[in-house]
Amino acid sequence: MHDHNHDHTTEDLTKNQALVLETLTGSKGPLSAYTILDQVRDQGIRAPLQVYRALDNLVAFGMVHRLESLKAFLACRNPNCGPHTAAAFTICDVCGRVAELTDGRLTEHLESVAQASNFTPTSTTIELRGVCDRCHKE
Ligand SMILES: [Zn+2]
Ligand SMILES: [Zn+2]
Repeated sequence: MHDHNHDHTTEDLTKNQALVLETLTGSKGPLSAYTILDQVRDQGIRAPLQVYRALDNLVAFGMVHRLESLKAFLACRNPNCGPHTAAAFTICDVCGRVAELTDGRLTEHLESVAQASNFTPTSTTIELRGVCDRCHKE
């Protein structure tokens, strides 16, 4: 199996992709496509489609993750993440904090499970909903 990890660097990105990635990297939490659009409007991206297209590509590169349950996007902060890595997130239902989990065994295991059912996954995102340690203590 070859290594797909972050084979795209920020220099390979188009202007729109770089702007969208910058917006996500600068954000503390996940952002919806419309929030991203609001923030890049002044910098020349005006059509929602431009944002969606940039997001699609960034997700395909493994640089951004899409959180289905929040309908939001998050910059990947895990250097071991790649386009075909299983990304896992904890999402706190109290404060909304989202954290990316790193566990190579998870990816390996899910890959072998998928292989056993002759399934080829293009992306895998696991979302764990619950209460974070900070909110737990309160
Ligand atoms: Zn990631
Ligand atoms: Zn919390």
